[in-house]
Amino acid sequence: MLRIFNKIFATGIVTESVKPPKDDELEQLGIAIKRHIDSKFAGSIAIREVDAGSCNGCELEIHALNNPYYDIERFGIHFVASPRHADVLLVTGPVSRHMQTALLRTYEATPNPKWVIAVGDCAACGGEFGVSYASCGAVSNVIPVDAVIAGCPPTPLALMKGLLGLIGH
Ligand code: SF4
Repeated sequence: MLRIFNKIFATGIVTESVKPPKDDELEQLGIAIKRHIDSKFAGSIAIREVDAGSCNGCELEIHALNNPYYDIERFGIHFVASPRHADVLLVTGPVSRHMQTALLRTYEATPNPKWVIAVGDCAACGGEFGVSYASCGAVSNVIPVDAVIAGCPPTPLALMKGLLGLIGH
């Protein structure tokens, strides 16, 4: 045990400290989003993310929004675990037949008024997968869609721009 402590003290801290973001575009987008959220949504909006059949590429970019660099929570955007607490559904992937009912139920469980954003090319039009015995294709084939964020996958900044486009109207 003493040997382990000695090694820990001798090694010191090897992780890199997180540098504060210097990305002006990110900050300006965030401030614009926060302004709309403060004026129209009483300070915060809640997002429920639904993976309806994606390859998880889109999820990696969505997850990045919550990392220490983008830290989207500071602009008043929160990801929630239940559609019952959500204002916005962020849906990825072509809708697989196995997820069709789950997506419909999630949509029905989300209180009105609600918005649906189809994230990624697969969610927008079915992408590489289209419509088949296993896929319903675009999200709009299953539930009403209010906005589309294109890309394969869309970057975190593209996601923020899409969100701003929706709440800015
Ligand atoms: S849009 Fe691209 S990254 Fe997103 S689910 Fe489809 S193939 Fe994957």
